[in-house]
Amino acid sequence: MAIRLFNTYSRALEEFRPMDPAGREVKMYTCGPTVYSHAHIGNFRAYLFEDLLQRHLESREFTVRRVMNITDVDDKTIRGSREAGVPLAEFTQPFKQAFFEDLDALRIKRADSFPEATDPQQVRKMIEMIGTLLERGLAYQAEDKSVYYRINKFADYGKLAHFDLEELRSTGRVKSDEYEKENIGDFALWKAWDEADGAVKWESPWGPGRPGWHIECSAMATQLLGEQLDIHCGGVDNIFPHHEAEIAQTEGCTGKKFVRYWLHCAHLMVEGQKMAKSLGNFYTLRDVIAKGYSGREVRYALMRVHYRAPLNFTWEGMEESRVALGRVDDWVRRLREAPSSKSPAFAEATAGGQDPKKHQAPNPKSSGFQDALDDDLNISAALGALFETIRETNRRMDTDEMGAEEAKGWLEWWKRVDGVLAISGEEAELPAEIAELAEARVQARLAKDWRKSDQLRDELAARGWEARDTKDGQKVTRRGGT
Ligand code: AMP
Ligand code: ZN
Repeated sequence: MAIRLFNTYSRALEEFRPMDPAGREVKMYTCGPTVYSHAHIGNFRAYLFEDLLQRHLESREFTVRRVMNITDVDDKTIRGSREAGVPLAEFTQPFKQAFFEDLDALRIKRADSFPEATDPQQVRKMIEMIGTLLERGLAYQAEDKSVYYRINKFADYGKLAHFDLEELRSTGRVKSDEYEKENIGDFALWKAWDEADGAVKWESPWGPGRPGWHIECSAMATQLLGEQLDIHCGGVDNIFPHHEAEIAQTEGCTGKKFVRYWLHCAHLMVEGQKMAKSLGNFYTLRDVIAKGYSGREVRYALMRVHYRAPLNFTWEGMEESRVALGRVDDWVRRLREAPSSKSPAFAEATAGGQDPKKHQAPNPKSSGFQDALDDDLNISAALGALFETIRETNRRMDTDEMGAEEAKGWLEWWKRVDGVLAISGEEAELPAEIAELAEARVQARLAKDWRKSDQLRDELAARGWEARDTKDGQKVTRRGGT
């Protein structure tokens, strides 16, 4: 079965085929965090959907090359650094670090690179692109010295968001400081320096200033992945103006189609409203962990609903996730402990001439999990298939119908499924007291209590276990074992 994805550009489900002539490599760009505070779990819903997409593509033998940018200069980061009275880089540093710790806690795979908007090499690329757009008449410098994109010179402007240019002209609100623009929809490519920016500025042919947010992504994406991408993702709030602007800028420079598949996830909601910093209705991952939940429980809770359906965050939802993961853990433990030969009950039942179908093992290959994800990442159907499998195989274990060989087959299947879901509990393998120490260490690291974290590592070592911090989070294994 082919993979089908819903493309925001065409508003249709399309069969996924990457540009790579061999059909294997996938170039994927995902908009990353603005590091002026801790990311909230709404942001992580977007990153988790992207993680699920990457893991599913990899399980289907694609090689994913993914870039996620870090926006470490914009109005909010500048304001934050001014209020804290520290230089911009010093202000953003702890939030960058926290972001990576949160990715690990949620078992989100690291992208191949995380370019930062303030990296001189990236700023050079942004300046180069703005220069090209000016040369082509697609941009202009206004009286305020900022450089703007001339949206009515780009015929396709509005196509991603399905807006009509006329509508954009008539519905925008004119802000008093934007009177210099030719058209209210024109967006800034380069923001001329002003006093509020303090020491934050770069030299450019148009005078000192800083890049606009949209050009950051066009520059970083093309610099690291080339002029054309297979997949570009983000939350729905990124569609307009951010992604629309990325298309206008990049295609305005290259003359080539920028992105083949645009994928956007719906919002994480709280009581019917988008979870957002500006609404004050948000939780960070740390807030949820402080209530006693683990990173994998949050992962499951944010991932279990189809990415295009809004998801309401509730504490009951967190409890349901805990119960669901408990069922998975119990099932894996039972499979590991399955008897090493067929039990007498199985032999007797089959010898007695009963309906052999009743004793037919379900087939790991046809469980429907992969097909569901092929269908535009239908995670609810995929989880449905997983829990149906759990129910059926548990029934077979209850009635002693499952032998060790079959159990091994299911464990292998689970390993592949969990390569995509990444929800397995290490507790299933670890003795309770080791699991507790391991979890305490995860918490200590999230609280940045490095002394406690080291102490717990020593305690684990003294009991014969090794804690390693990997790209996919903490791994605890028997020392000298696998
Ligand atoms: P930002 O730091 O605001 O640029 O957002 C980073 C990413 O999180 C973007 O892809 C946003 O679209 C996404 N995002 C922001 N708020 C939510 C939310 N409540 N639910 C899902 N995704 C969100
Ligand atoms: Zn972006």
